[in-house]
Amino acid sequence: MKTSYILQIHTGSFLNAHTSLEKVKEKMGELIRTKNIQAVIFGWHLDLQLNAQLLDYFHQANIPCYFWLPVLSEIDQIMPSISLTNYTGQKSQCVQVIEDESFSFLCPSHQDSYQNVVKVYEKYLAKLDFDGVFLDKIRFPSFANGYEEGFGCFCEECQEAYQNAGIDVEALKLLFSKHDDALLKGHYDAYGHYLFDHATVNSFYQVRAHLITQLIGQLSDFFHSKNLKVGLDIYAPFFAYHCGQDIQALSKKADFLKPMFYRFTTAPAGMQYEYDAYKKYFPNSSEFKLDPISLSSLAKQVAYLKQSSCEVYPGIEVNPIENICHTDLERFRENQAFFFQDFDCLVCCWNCLLMDEDIQNHL
Ligand SMILES: [Zn+2]
Repeated sequence: MKTSYILQIHTGSFLNAHTSLEKVKEKMGELIRTKNIQAVIFGWHLDLQLNAQLLDYFHQANIPCYFWLPVLSEIDQIMPSISLTNYTGQKSQCVQVIEDESFSFLCPSHQDSYQNVVKVYEKYLAKLDFDGVFLDKIRFPSFANGYEEGFGCFCEECQEAYQNAGIDVEALKLLFSKHDDALLKGHYDAYGHYLFDHATVNSFYQVRAHLITQLIGQLSDFFHSKNLKVGLDIYAPFFAYHCGQDIQALSKKADFLKPMFYRFTTAPAGMQYEYDAYKKYFPNSSEFKLDPISLSSLAKQVAYLKQSSCEVYPGIEVNPIENICHTDLERFRENQAFFFQDFDCLVCCWNCLLMDEDIQNHL
């Protein structure tokens, strides 16, 4: 099996560039000459000139380019957006863990959330020769944004969707406020959906996932109509459904999925970090016991991905960052050996400009 890599490059936030063409060339030059690079994902800085130069540079090496585009976060930095409302009625707050990223979340039901992404595309990307888009932040906030936000949006529209599915929203809120075990108890099916024992909780999670699938389906249709491929950033399977991502349904709309197998990151999307951020709200419960970054848990999570209708390229960390990402060559090699048993392409996450030299030499 011939193995390859996709390189993810963070060029900056919507507001600030964090790099330049020269810096990208300096770090990526040898990699694209000597390694088997299937594609690059870069973004989400919107500077037309920088993006045109990067496209030229990678296209000259025959490497397809995806624009990395946040959907339900970050966009509020550049246009009026509808914030998520948590179950106590509060609007989403900004959580600053990684510099220059907002992690403030938006409502997936509201049409503005769709239209704003389309507007960003029309204004900044339509004239450029991208091969695809890579949609990020396509989920509800996790419990890393706090307990109240972890249950997602309770604006009028979202509440109406829950009620239309026969959900007693007040009973549900009571379970939240009691930190009830019903919010943990359940099991995974073969696709990685978490089936909750409690019928109301289960319906609620179904509707949530449906709201995300609807928005991402609509966006995928839009980008496909522009002849762009669509890649999706999803949580590691053990937690994707808890954040509103139905992997199976999303895989029917996309060209590829990049599950974030971030085993060594202590920030949002870090697997152990997310698990701990959730479980800490249920300190006395023995339910939902997992060791999500162990190889035995990873094997189960990979099995769920086998049911996907599109390509799957696992995302693994390559950028050690003090206090945030604790990867090194040994950990990278363990990931590499593990995931190449089942997949032929891995995504080097989440910023190859910060890739460790040792890791780079072992791609
Ligand atoms: Zn909402």
